[in-house]
Amino acid sequence: MRGEIIAVGSELLLGEIANTNAQYLSEWLATCGIGVYYHSVVGDNAERMKESFELARSRADLIVITGGLGPTEDDLTKEVLAEMLGRKLVLDAPAYEKIERFFKGRSLQVTEGNRKQALVIEGGEVLSNEAGLAPGIVIKDQDKQFILLPGVPREMKRILSDHFSHLLGKETIQSRTLRFFGIGESALNDLLKEQIRTAANPSIAPYADLAEVRLRLTAKANSEEEARLMLDQVETEIHAVAGEYFYGHDEASLPGVVHSSLRAENATLAAAESLTGGMFAKGLTDLAGVSSVFRGSVVAYDRQAKEKLLAVESSLIDTEGVVSEAVAIQMAAGAKEAFQSDYAIAFTGEAGPDSGSGVKVGTVCCAIATPDDVVVRTFHYASSDRSMIRLRAVKDGYFWLYKLLNRKNA
Ligand code: ATP
Ligand code: MG
Repeated sequence: MRGEIIAVGSELLLGEIANTNAQYLSEWLATCGIGVYYHSVVGDNAERMKESFELARSRADLIVITGGLGPTEDDLTKEVLAEMLGRKLVLDAPAYEKIERFFKGRSLQVTEGNRKQALVIEGGEVLSNEAGLAPGIVIKDQDKQFILLPGVPREMKRILSDHFSHLLGKETIQSRTLRFFGIGESALNDLLKEQIRTAANPSIAPYADLAEVRLRLTAKANSEEEARLMLDQVETEIHAVAGEYFYGHDEASLPGVVHSSLRAENATLAAAESLTGGMFAKGLTDLAGVSSVFRGSVVAYDRQAKEKLLAVESSLIDTEGVVSEAVAIQMAAGAKEAFQSDYAIAFTGEAGPDSGSGVKVGTVCCAIATPDDVVVRTFHYASSDRSMIRLRAVKDGYFWLYKLLNRKNA
């Protein structure tokens, strides 16, 4: 359903007051599951009001109009809309009685203007106004719906809260974010081509970060439960094609899922970091409560540190090179031994800009010591940007560890 909001009032055009009603209404319509496509403001001029109402009718399904329901000559909203729809204005008895009571209570005569406030468009549904005198009106005309509300914000809000659930039902919008690592935005788009093409509700919107992609799923439904089921179903379809890259929902982070996986397994972790210089440990220790699973990290940057602190064999560095899988394996084993942890991860690589180690800039060897094994792999990053290479290595480390801990295609 396409919604549109029109605020009537010359003082809005003159800049004397801000159009806060439109902001409030947009937010309210969103919570009802209705997208708003246009806001407009028109002065108290019958011809221009008619133009603006006609335009809205041509492009929206639900048109909410505020202002111009008052007692004065320049309050023209109902008159203009009634004429446009070919309907008469009729007196609403309950609204008129309320006005009479109000004035009699103050020993005043009901004027013609006050009587005008009780006029409603024929065939419309009258929305009582508990905060003022002019009622709101809902008019269904063919497949279009108009809602007229007073301009006074307090009255408008009161009418919405008293009547909206009955008018619009309780459609809700629920969103969920799925987080992926190790796949680019366009590659993920390709995998999900079919889902994205056919998805209207829930909708699927991708966002890209460094080596990460988020998919935001948004469902509109009549209840939270229904929205949740719709999101579950799309998520299942997405997992079937891209599940191997998935690591978490909403606010999840790579270090965060490593942390929770370690906790779930009741396992401890240590690290040995060369090119990453403590960045791996930094990401984990940014999380509160990580001390129960993370023992620490050795930043073994130069060769001697690797030998002394991690018991890497000097001859191995000579034969294999400092950036090698063999050295990464010994670093991980050394960290696991030094910290007496269940798991340990090690990084050795060439972050550039010049290669001091003899291997190509962007080469990173990463090893993970598990309770009964050591596994190793080499990443080759195309970037020659030092900080990108380091960051990417750390993220790859987290993700691999997460997969290993969850034994998912690790
Ligand atoms: P009244 O019965 O008071 O005449 P009305 O429905 O005719 O109500 P307006 O005359 O258009 O409404 O506006 C009344 C007052 O409500 C304005 O003077 C202004 O203070 C406030 N108002 C009107 N429109 C808006 C708007 N779009 N955003 C914020 N405030 C508004
Ligand atoms: Mg007015």
